[in-house]
Amino acid sequence: MARSICRLNIAAATLGLAMLLSTPIHAADADPFAGVEVSAAKVAGSVYMLTGSGGNIGLSVGTDGTLMVDDQYAPLSQRIQAAIASVGGDEPKIILNTHYHGDHTGGNPQFGTSGTIIAHENVRVRLLDEEDFARAGLPVVTFEDKLRIYFNDDELDVLHLPTGHTDSDAIVWFKNANVLHLGDHFFNGMFPYIDLEGGGSLQGFIKNLKTIIAMAPEDVRIIPGHGKLGTILELAENVEMLESTYSAVEVALAAGKTEQEILDAGVDDRWKSYAWQFITQERWLKTLITEATGGIAQARR
Ligand SMILES: [Zn+2]
Repeated sequence: MARSICRLNIAAATLGLAMLLSTPIHAADADPFAGVEVSAAKVAGSVYMLTGSGGNIGLSVGTDGTLMVDDQYAPLSQRIQAAIASVGGDEPKIILNTHYHGDHTGGNPQFGTSGTIIAHENVRVRLLDEEDFARAGLPVVTFEDKLRIYFNDDELDVLHLPTGHTDSDAIVWFKNANVLHLGDHFFNGMFPYIDLEGGGSLQGFIKNLKTIIAMAPEDVRIIPGHGKLGTILELAENVEMLESTYSAVEVALAAGKTEQEILDAGVDDRWKSYAWQFITQERWLKTLITEATGGIAQARR
């Protein structure tokens, strides 16, 4: 039984990345980005959050120039640049990638022609694995554990989080502005996507979030990878959801429930609102079952 459950979840995990792209795609649209508007909102200090389609972008604009965290999709690059200009910024000198997924690195080839792309080493490794990924979009400065950047009168700590959303994750802490960009370690109010095939794990994800909560000031503002600007309280609720839904699946499996029975039972009412277009309740439960039955490594057997 466990094996068949696991095999089903390989498919779910594989589908995940493609399905994650939070674009309002309609089958009939020739250009799925036609209706996408990129807009900028001030967060604190020199930091702004840009929303459009794909992962939320963080931005620092000031006397040293422009620094950007993630860059969504290639077709949006001009709109992103226009949104940067709307808050007084220019071409980003530095581009940080929070991880390798295409909805966070799609603009790299464009922005990498004029700026320096910095990311965890595994971002470069995984982008090199992608067929035809433009060389200009590869990180040219990589790090293993952490990095500090002094920019626009702020001190940025860029910290690698091991084995979480993927194996290439970093968060960016704008210490003076008191803002965190958590990349896809935070889907605010939504079930997260855990890229088990991309080196992620639920247990690592939870551990990383607890590290962040212990480290960050209580009043820090948080730019999530997906969803609206968040707080530590919302992040803590996310951890509670992760632990609660995972433990419910563990209990059900220990009681001999089948995958179908677990899917039919669904998640506790308290967490139903976390379901969204791409990580539905079913997909989330399948991720939990895969993790609880030994993770993707065992699922491959
Ligand atoms: Zn991602």
